[in-house]
Amino acid sequence: MGIVIKSHYEIALMRQAGRIVALTLAKLASSVRVGMKTKELDTIAGEEIRKHGAIPSFLGYRGFPANICVSVNDEIVHGIPGDRVLKEGDLVSLDVGAIYKGFQGDGATTVGIGRVSPGLLELMEATKGALDEGIKAARDGAHLGDVSFAIGQYAEKKGFSVVREYSGHGIGTNLHEDPQVPNMGVRGQGMVLRRGMTLAIEPMVNTGTWRTRVAPNMWTVLTADGGISAHFEHTIAIRENGADILTAL
Ligand code: MG
Repeated sequence: MGIVIKSHYEIALMRQAGRIVALTLAKLASSVRVGMKTKELDTIAGEEIRKHGAIPSFLGYRGFPANICVSVNDEIVHGIPGDRVLKEGDLVSLDVGAIYKGFQGDGATTVGIGRVSPGLLELMEATKGALDEGIKAARDGAHLGDVSFAIGQYAEKKGFSVVREYSGHGIGTNLHEDPQVPNMGVRGQGMVLRRGMTLAIEPMVNTGTWRTRVAPNMWTVLTADGGISAHFEHTIAIRENGADILTAL
């Protein structure tokens, strides 16, 4: 599939989907606590998404068995909610997708459970900061490599490693569209971004190695060395004057 340029009308619908994602992430962040099972978060998310007239994007996507992804500590992305009980000091990455009137929104945040170590707070700040830098670089006429460079450079300068085997992506009527949006890159390389393009930008940042492995369930992606990982994501539209965040409240 090539790059799809969206009309203002299509972007408006994507903003509706994105707002439902943002509301759901806010609901999850305010609900999560010590002693909760990750499947309880999945139930809350499913109810919230449907309450707003949307459908969870991930449920059934290539056979994914839950409404959302919940990835704890050394789990990077694609964690399956279940009976795991959250403990004080855990980092929990919550990834939510919603389909509204045929359009997708995709967003993620990482939250700490109770009191989190200073090093992990730094990891979360660095990952969120890397996302912000990527969004700032995503403007009409910029190269895709400018976005990737901004993300990777920021996180590495903070002393963390950036996952290379999983990327952001174009998004629209499909959850994953062209182009891929890597979290590491070279300025001035890659395609030129144009207004009307819609992208999900999603740095995944680790305390240890950037290398990954996949769990026996064939879904959950973990750090290869057991280091801790954080993940933040927004869906954005490229506009005349920069990026417009669609997964914001
Ligand atoms: Mg995504």
